[in-house]
Amino acid sequence: MAQGHPFFITFVPMEKEAKFCCAKCGKEFRAQTPMYVSVERNPELKQEIISGKLFIKECPYCGNRQIIRFPLVYVDTAASLLIYLSESSAINIDDPAGFTCRLVSDAGSLIEKIKIFDAGLDDIAIEMCKFVTLQELGKQVELKFFKLEGAEGDMIFTYPEKGEMQMLSVGLNVYEDCRKILQRNPSIEEGAKGLVKIDRDWLSTFLA
Ligand SMILES: [Zn+2]
Repeated sequence: MAQGHPFFITFVPMEKEAKFCCAKCGKEFRAQTPMYVSVERNPELKQEIISGKLFIKECPYCGNRQIIRFPLVYVDTAASLLIYLSESSAINIDDPAGFTCRLVSDAGSLIEKIKIFDAGLDDIAIEMCKFVTLQELGKQVELKFFKLEGAEGDMIFTYPEKGEMQMLSVGLNVYEDCRKILQRNPSIEEGAKGLVKIDRDWLSTFLA
């Protein structure tokens, strides 16, 4: 393994041309999409992922801007983190030793994972926080981690409701409690080895 670079990177082309169909005028157009984003080499692409800009393409015929879907490998070597964005769950990719590897099936989940790991948090504990918080709220919504805020480091989650994005603040003590539960139940973290999709469904298999 080359210093600082997971060995599989050489097999992943940097970008490819893909075909898209405009949702407004119906015309087909081609556009370059990155297949591999290295935070080290392309920090600007990381910012485009987080802002969502990378997933929006403009139709060259009518100017309509639409969200596009494409597979992507995201690697943050300094954080030993690999996230694979793919709508398919049948993935055959080498997970480099010592890396945290995650599978996500949509851009919103990729953005959330990056924010969680950038905040120095554990995504399994965050998933558990969401589970506990939703039970208390009694709502069937999808929470997404947004950021840490304030002197106490409260967790801010977002969720859609009535066509608007709502914010929800949850104390970091909830996160710490979830971390303690995980420490007492090592089988959960053991189940997160390899390229795993950590989400509500994944966690619920342990809580059943
Ligand atoms: Zn168009």
